Amino acid sequence: MNPIGSRACYDEGKRCAETLFFDYHRQHRVEIKVARIFNTYGPRMHPNDGRVVSNFIVQALRGQDITIYGDGTQTRSFCYVDDLIDGFVRLMATGPDVTGPVNLGNPGEFSMRELAAIVLDITGSRSRIVHRPLPADDPRQRRPDISLANEALGWRPTVPLREGLGRTVAYFDAFLREVTAA
Ligand code: UDP
Repeated sequence: MNPIGSRACYDEGKRCAETLFFDYHRQHRVEIKVARIFNTYGPRMHPNDGRVVSNFIVQALRGQDITIYGDGTQTRSFCYVDDLIDGFVRLMATGPDVTGPVNLGNPGEFSMRELAAIVLDITGSRSRIVHRPLPADDPRQRRPDISLANEALGWRPTVPLREGLGRTVAYFDAFLREVTAA
């Protein structure tokens, strides 16, 4: 962890929020639930969000170059939005003894190269893959251990990456057509 890097306010903000939640829980008995959300994607993401899934899909649909940062061997685990929401609803329905932190995410792990290949395949795009510098402090890997969510909530994600990407591509395809027509 780098507490003074350019993305540190995001990481440290989340850590600080968890600390305060647990202080209020202990001191004032506030009922709390702490979820740790891993990479999530799906329809209604913002096209300029900057996240890898929205970037690759928008680039592929527009026929622009697909920008892989670094060599693309870093991995992420992508959770489809409906699965995440289901996890939230189950967490909020638990008794006061369940506080978390509980990891919510899809453990299926993919490299950015694999993600780009799937997006190109689904869209049928002829976009080229280009490489850009890796941002500072970019993690090599992110993969949630969801055993607690499985035990405490009976939860596990059900939408495979390819299927979720298919739905997300359909959303962006319609969205970009509307924007172009307007
Ligand atoms: N990334 C990429 N091309 C992009 C946007 C992101 O290769 O156009 C990479 C980024 O460097 C990271 C991964 O994709 O290794 C996931 O990035 P994102 O910002 O979606 O999530 P996070 O880094 O917060 O896990």
